[in-house]
Amino acid sequence: MSRPSLRYLRIAVTSRCNLRCVYCRPAGVAEGEDVLSREEIVRFVRLSVECGIEKVRLTGGEPLLRPDILEIVRDLAALPGLGDLGLTTNATCLASMARGLREAGLRRINVGLSAVAPEVYRRITRGGRVEDALAGLRAAVEAGFDPVKVNVVVMRGVNDGELPALAGLTREDAIEVRFVEYMPFLEDADSRERYLVSGEEVLRRLGELGEIEALPGRRGPGSARRYRLRGHRGTLGIIAPHSEPFCHACNRVRLTADGRLRACLIDGGEQDILPLIRSGLDRAGMERLLGEAAAAKPRIHTSAFRGQMHRIGG
Ligand code: SAM
Repeated sequence: MSRPSLRYLRIAVTSRCNLRCVYCRPAGVAEGEDVLSREEIVRFVRLSVECGIEKVRLTGGEPLLRPDILEIVRDLAALPGLGDLGLTTNATCLASMARGLREAGLRRINVGLSAVAPEVYRRITRGGRVEDALAGLRAAVEAGFDPVKVNVVVMRGVNDGELPALAGLTREDAIEVRFVEYMPFLEDADSRERYLVSGEEVLRRLGELGEIEALPGRRGPGSARRYRLRGHRGTLGIIAPHSEPFCHACNRVRLTADGRLRACLIDGGEQDILPLIRSGLDRAGMERLLGEAAAAKPRIHTSAFRGQMHRIGG
């Protein structure tokens, strides 16, 4: 079977974060500097769009910690040919920035939120305040982002008791709350058995909250299966990289915070391209890089994650 061309680029614009989520970053990992400059990011995206990338997502670390994030968004939103620009954030700094990001041209926003109960959120994020994240989520809705999606990494015995409260966020607001299967780190292979709650189980448990209807059609490879609880404005989603891998259709490529092009989120296939970015990457070079990344994608990824999520961006 032939490989699909790469269409979707995710860029970790920083590896710095103000949270230390247990599913993402091992405790005690040192903060790095922001390696890529705004000019390097914008030039990289411009070339990639010229070579077939249609969709770009800014991630991290926490992208809103970059002092120049508004300028980066403004520059990217103005690129001809880039139809779809999104950003993933923990939303703890979003309350004061949502309007500015919207005015800079951002349309789509994803919020990583692990719980609604303050104590559960504090434990998972190792000290975060859920009030800040919920204020950011509210600001995103009020600023008119469309869509606003919430990503919940579900871990058994850690936050699976939060499913009803998280699903409840869809009652009044037209947001999409997506439950994501936990991806274990390679160094802690047992964590899969300990923490993984399958998408099927999440769906069954959501079905206990009320009448649930399946919504038609997926939007693209790796996107969520979607549902709605009767009477709710928003929708629910299930993302199941373990139970339903979509490697055969995966059209994603990632640029890590330290300038590596990564072919597969889970299995790696990384190439250090920082020297190339710095020495004048051109369109022919970008075409070659994207072709190599497409060829480096595994037929099917392994079950444990290789690398550091805060550097890669999820
Ligand atoms: N700071 C932002 C945030 O919190 O969403 C963006 C960076 S974070 C690395 C991006 C996303 O990666 C998170 O929202 C989460 O959904 C996902 N993620 C991180 N670690 C994960 C894991 N072990 N399994 C599944 N998803 C994970």
